[in-house]
Amino acid sequence: MQQYDIIIVGGGMVGSALACKLAVTSLKIAIIERQSPTPFDNQQPMDLRVSAISASSQQLLKDINVWDEIEAMRSCPYRYLETWEGEGSHLLFDSHEMQRDSLGHIVENRVIQLALWNRISDFTNVTVLSGQSIEQMTSIESGYQLQLGEQTLECKLLIGADGANSMVRTVANIGVTAWDYQQHAMLISITTEYSQQDITWQKFYPSGPRALLPLKGNNASLVWYDSPQRIKALSNMPLSQLKQEVINNFPDRLGEFDINNIGSFPLTRRHAQQYIKTNLCLVGDAAHTINPLAGQGVNLGLKDIGCLADVICHANDKQEAWWDKEILIRYEKKRRNDNLLMQSAMDVFYLTFSNDLSPLQFARNSALKIAQQFTWGKKQVMKYAMGL
Ligand SMILES: Cc1cc2nc3c(=O)[nH]c(=O)nc-3n(C[C@H](O)[C@H](O)[C@H](O)COP(=O)(O)OP(=O)(O)OC[C@H]3O[C@@H](n4cnc5c(N)ncnc54)[C@H](O)[C@@H]3O)c2cc1C
Repeated sequence: MQQYDIIIVGGGMVGSALACKLAVTSLKIAIIERQSPTPFDNQQPMDLRVSAISASSQQLLKDINVWDEIEAMRSCPYRYLETWEGEGSHLLFDSHEMQRDSLGHIVENRVIQLALWNRISDFTNVTVLSGQSIEQMTSIESGYQLQLGEQTLECKLLIGADGANSMVRTVANIGVTAWDYQQHAMLISITTEYSQQDITWQKFYPSGPRALLPLKGNNASLVWYDSPQRIKALSNMPLSQLKQEVINNFPDRLGEFDINNIGSFPLTRRHAQQYIKTNLCLVGDAAHTINPLAGQGVNLGLKDIGCLADVICHANDKQEAWWDKEILIRYEKKRRNDNLLMQSAMDVFYLTFSNDLSPLQFARNSALKIAQQFTWGKKQVMKYAMGL
């Protein structure tokens, strides 16, 4: 029987960051991850899964001493963010207006996870159990008991950081409010004719946005949102035909490019009806998923773990029962509304732009034009998106 204070299920970006935040306490922590990330080699092609990391997430990663390692592997700052629908309705966000060097960074998810795992290895009170799957998860009087093959583990607090289809959430019988968006996202990893770019852009079409996220060197990630049928058809094409489709359907500013890799993802909004139960807590995608059109998913997850770690550490310092529902409710109260607000804001974008009704088209293009002139308003939007 192995006894821990906290067991985190899921060693992705959010679960690993939480382990790093909590590692500075004397709490005994285990993190269970079914798949170890492939080690980094700078000759590797860019991964398909990348995230736009906001200023507040960057600060959290700096605070836990992993940002330098992320930068030493690879990341790409973006200084400008441009979005538009019709010509003449361009809305440009510029980091200089915020007196900042960048609006955020595009980083491969695996690079973030690897930097976090390296940091975790500095702490003797955190054990990583990788390549393991949980056979049984049982609520007991003192917390939870987990069965992993021959091993039995017990903890006072079980944390579900196991992503959108969270097993922890299901076994704990926590319901979700969920619906599928009528769009899928196709990710297309490309090499471009341009050297490293410092702008991320997104053009809205009635069938969904089409975007470019710059990556280190002359690399970039294209995101094509469209109906599930259209994305399926695109995914089944030979790459030469897909390239022609991209040329025909993306803005000209893309320039010459070669496709390296593709993948597609259904888009679902989910929100757990509770983030906490007795001796149990959910964070990141296990608690909420959001339309990725503004790249906020993992940024919300990192805000969750910042808040949860503060609640636990504060109670632990005061020698309170930090695993108690009465204490953990402070985390749920703070984070649930914030996440709901961001989910709803993304849905407003999704619903407003995903149609070709002429009056709406006129109204949203006028709104973009007005927003471009409205410096104070733009700064507030930028601050919100950057998590400041
Ligand atoms: C197309 C697309 C684009 C996106 N772009 C952005 C973006 O630009 N910016 C942004 O902020 N967000 C973005 N997101 C969202 C972002 O990817 C997620 O919010 C983020 O990955 C959530 O991290 P997580 O650690 O909570 O979950 P996950 O990344 O899903 O990690 C969960 C981990 O738990 C492990 N696991 C699962 N079940 C078990 C189990 N039973 N036992 C052990 N381990 C388990 C998994 O192997 C995994 O490592 C995007 C999402 C999509 C679909």
